[in-house]
Amino acid sequence: MKQSNLFLPTLREVPTEAEIVSHQLMVRAGLIRQLVSGVYTYLPLGHRVLRKVQQIVREEMDRAGAQEISMPAIQPAELWQETGRWDAYGPELMRLKDRHSRDFVLGPTHEEVVTGLVRDNLNTYKKLPINLYQIQTKYRDEVRPRFGVIRSREFIMKDAYSFDTSRDGLDVSYQSMYDAYSRIFSRAGLKYRAVEADAGAIGGKGTHEFMALSDIGEDTIAYCTSCDYAANLEKAEVVYRQGAEKQEAAGGMEKVPTPDVKTIEQLMNHFHMEARQFIKALVFKADDRFVVALVRGDHELNDIKLKNVFDANVLTMASEAEMNELGIPIGFVGPFQLPDTIEVVADFAVQDMTGAVAGANEKDYHYKNVTPGKDFAIKTYTDLRNIVEGDECPRCGGHIAFARGIEVGHVFKLGTRYSEKMGAKFLDVNGKEQPMVMGCYGIGVSRTVAACVEQNNDENGIIWPWTLAPYQIHVVPVNVKNDEQRQLAESLYEQLLAEGYEVLLDDRAERAGVKFKDADLIGLPIRITVGGKAAEEIVEVKVRKTGEALEIQTSELPERIKALSVSLQA
Ligand code: ATP
Ligand code: MG
Repeated sequence: MKQSNLFLPTLREVPTEAEIVSHQLMVRAGLIRQLVSGVYTYLPLGHRVLRKVQQIVREEMDRAGAQEISMPAIQPAELWQETGRWDAYGPELMRLKDRHSRDFVLGPTHEEVVTGLVRDNLNTYKKLPINLYQIQTKYRDEVRPRFGVIRSREFIMKDAYSFDTSRDGLDVSYQSMYDAYSRIFSRAGLKYRAVEADAGAIGGKGTHEFMALSDIGEDTIAYCTSCDYAANLEKAEVVYRQGAEKQEAAGGMEKVPTPDVKTIEQLMNHFHMEARQFIKALVFKADDRFVVALVRGDHELNDIKLKNVFDANVLTMASEAEMNELGIPIGFVGPFQLPDTIEVVADFAVQDMTGAVAGANEKDYHYKNVTPGKDFAIKTYTDLRNIVEGDECPRCGGHIAFARGIEVGHVFKLGTRYSEKMGAKFLDVNGKEQPMVMGCYGIGVSRTVAACVEQNNDENGIIWPWTLAPYQIHVVPVNVKNDEQRQLAESLYEQLLAEGYEVLLDDRAERAGVKFKDADLIGLPIRITVGGKAAEEIVEVKVRKTGEALEIQTSELPERIKALSVSLQA
């Protein structure tokens, strides 16, 4: 491609709306332009990168035996009513009406469509397992679209759906997708980790998220510094080792006035005690009943874990009005004299506390010298808190550290959740009807592009890995008005194209400084500069990633480029 003719609007200034480096660079390097909040156009360079990601995804999905299809973005509301998601999905679902006032959605995902498709067209074990995928535009009216194409409202996803005859079959399909994802993200040059995530109602080892490691990631990953255990914060199991013999506090439990002393911090100042000596009590509504959860004052409650304890669909903090109705004073909640209907659960660590301070369930009062088990009864002690750095690894006993990640992929064992609701059944070997056992597997294709830029850049611009680069080689004649330079550059360009490289020729009559700045910003892996030594057939070859530059005789160029391309792909 000749740059003089390329639609490549680069920018020197950092766009003010872009908070993170990848967003800034994707705009500055002319990859994307925003149409409206969370909706983007891909310009030629951006589109090429997107296609490269799609190509890798396609090759690995095909290799794993999945079959590509293309499902509609517009989906009738009836399908979503079958699974109950028409009501459950909330404002993220883009809804619209046709001219007959019929309800539709713009697909945020395709479980309904694909389950309906398979239900209507396949009904025997002989045709199973099957895995169908597509690479397609998705719509989610995100509360806060941000970070450019990392969280947008229209984005490209690869979504795959597997259908098996049994749980064991699903395990095989799942593993095959897990392996394909690992190959995809490795080939895309990402530093990533597959982490265990919360599977909600399904439970078990039913889901992994593929996280591109990055400080701007919205998710916290807890990983072991000794083994390969990694889990999302929401999922990471806390190992509980029963503490030393519980000492009973000197003196019994005692009610003390604590006017307006509500938060852990206020309590610490008031009692001159550490956070770990307080029992934090939180009131939640789990579906339609109220529950109280206790954690140690220095620990954070993990509401996903709490939600799973009660097998709840929806878990919310009790509102002020609800607290008033229950007669529980905000700031003074404790495990005492609660209405019988309220179940109290406590984190393991609470079990070992002695001489603690807890709310008295009476305005302006706390109890001190509280010993759980003696002063109040708890039926269930369980894992309710967030893991913290330094905690023990649940697999190997090593230590947990934290990293942040961008979710680029997600593999999930759905089981029969959708097939039962939608009646997707097959006849087994014995002619008996059974629900299909499903898995679903997503990759954020557009998000992967941004994650790659987020991981590969410096102060001058993007540093594309070979596999995703919009072009691999940038040929830059310093001065196109100089015939020798222009002619040599053009002949190298033709030669490299003929050898099968993707090449961009900067044939613009711009100043050298401008051209080099743009070249660094765009960040193609190899730059060949044709300058003052053109007459001697000497050019400079520069590697964007290392900054390493060599003067090379053009006769040696093919060999050098070949070697470089191999080492850059390693
Ligand atoms: P997130 O937690 O980031 O909102 P999700 O868990 O809702 O994502 P999935 O339903 O698992 O997303 O979708 C599969 C993949 O699609 C995700 O792993 C992610 O890479 C991508 N994705 C999801 N939402 C967006 C979005 N708003 N913009 C770009 N990519 C997205
Ligand atoms: Mg997800």
